[in-house]
Amino acid sequence: MDLRNIAIIAHVDHGKTTLVDELLKQSGAFRENQQVSERALDSNDLERERGITILAKCTSVEWKDTRINIVDTPGHADFGGEVERILSMVDGVVLLVDAAEGPMPQTKFVTAKALALGLRPIVVLNKVDKPDAEPDRALDEVFDLFSNLGADDDQLDFPHLYASGRSGWADEEIDGPRKNLDALFRLISNHVPRPRVMNRVDEPFRMLATTLSADPFLGRILTGRIESGTVKTGATVQALSRVGQKIEQFRVSKVMAFRGLGQQEIEEGRAGDIVTLSGMQKATVADTLCALAVEEPLPALPIDPPTISVT
Ligand code: GDP
Repeated sequence: MDLRNIAIIAHVDHGKTTLVDELLKQSGAFRENQQVSERALDSNDLERERGITILAKCTSVEWKDTRINIVDTPGHADFGGEVERILSMVDGVVLLVDAAEGPMPQTKFVTAKALALGLRPIVVLNKVDKPDAEPDRALDEVFDLFSNLGADDDQLDFPHLYASGRSGWADEEIDGPRKNLDALFRLISNHVPRPRVMNRVDEPFRMLATTLSADPFLGRILTGRIESGTVKTGATVQALSRVGQKIEQFRVSKVMAFRGLGQQEIEEGRAGDIVTLSGMQKATVADTLCALAVEEPLPALPIDPPTISVT
């Protein structure tokens, strides 16, 4: 199965939850009565560690032969490199903008980070059904925003769709047929590159821990994208700190992936997949979880206050 990892950036109320629910409904993965296990990363058990608030959520949908992992981004500035870590798991971003309100200043921070990381955004002008929607004005404002944030030519040449997430359609034309979200699925699949690391599957297992959470049954759980190799339940792996110090060696008690709104145990996680592992006692965010033979941690992502400031 092909794979795409994307993040959605949206201001509160611009319709992210509604759109993702519609994507799920229209996705092959969704079944009426599908048993959706509790969203592990959505529990109230969120931990604070090293001053980091753990907020990432992930939803996974299937379209044709492609699995699309959709990562949520915090809609505000952060002070622990969390946004970078989350964005480092994805190869594309969808900026969702209320067509009546236009882009909001609060989403600038995350958008700036996405652009700085070289991600090429897809813009969805949402809620065009609203009587006061001004999609073309919103589009101009997005262009100006990207341009002010230093977007390169490729990023400024972003594709855009008009949408009403609530009515379940997205289209390239404002007066298009308004049937379904296929145009969005298609654009994600065509515009967002497949994870480059997918061809590093034969190398030793390495993954950067991006978010930390606690599960009532599994205890400590860490989520991130596998950068190389594969990982299975029962594997003995280690955690290396950002400076390469061995934090612990542990047996992976479960490998889980996102399916729909929930998480499911999977047999094997492979390079490019976003997975959740359990079994560790001490390992934390920004550590590298890896095969015992690995000596170097993955390049550290900032855990200190970000250097890019957005006014
Ligand atoms: P979130 O905060 O970005 O997750 O936004 P929600 O998905 O919760 O939506 C916020 C509000 O906007 C809700 O009242 C939705 O019913 C409404 N909404 C979402 N999508 C649309 C849309 O396409 N058109 C209109 N008119 N309202 C929408």
